[in-house]
Amino acid sequence: MTRSRPPLKIVPPQLDVPASSGAELEVGDAPTSATQRIVDSITNAIAERRLMPGTKLSEQKIGDIFEVSRTVVRQAFNQLSRDRLVVLEPARGAFVATPTAEEARDVFEVRAILETAVTKQLCATITDEQIRQLRVHLEQERAAVNNAEVPGRTRLLADFHIVLARMLGNQVLEQMLSELLTRSSLIALMRQSSQSAEESHGEHVAIVDAFERRDVRAAVRLVDKHLGNVQRNLDLDPQRIDLANILNH
Ligand SMILES: [Zn+2]
Repeated sequence: MTRSRPPLKIVPPQLDVPASSGAELEVGDAPTSATQRIVDSITNAIAERRLMPGTKLSEQKIGDIFEVSRTVVRQAFNQLSRDRLVVLEPARGAFVATPTAEEARDVFEVRAILETAVTKQLCATITDEQIRQLRVHLEQERAAVNNAEVPGRTRLLADFHIVLARMLGNQVLEQMLSELLTRSSLIALMRQSSQSAEESHGEHVAIVDAFERRDVRAAVRLVDKHLGNVQRNLDLDPQRIDLANILNH
């Protein structure tokens, strides 16, 4: 391995209980919350582009940061590995995943299926209050895009899609989409430009406009087009795009 790894940067969490007498938090104490805090913190760091693909995650360092044992850290790594955010390599340790183009395409394919269904349902039931909430979200997006504030921008652009699913009140759907969006963020992290972020925001505005008109067909078409554009901007498979152009001409 000749490629150097970027340094690990994680913002330490606010511990709700002060660590007493230097004792480590062991599995028996509060395994779920300690593990979950690490999982959440690393997930957020990836979603907000503070942790780059390929970064080595040291058990010891993370244990020190969160004041927990390496056993707890390993549990968090196992969960992150199940979410495909972290890769565990025997004898080498844990690394932030580097998704392949094929994996990225699969993620976008599933997103398109789920989000088209979300759009159809939501457009039929959306309330004026929910439209207002979406407009507030768009204002925050606008501000983050204008300020070229990359972590906030990435998070808000991804959250737009989760907010739509949340408005349907289906927690399973919201959870599934959150996981896919986090994986998308990791992909975007490696490839998304600020111009495509600007474009995404504009497409979100058009989607909300269609919701406001209760125009299901337009909303579905816009969501589909938006996901296609995001995927194309990430340049996941230029060969396939070229081939399509050749065959169409
Ligand atoms: Zn979007």
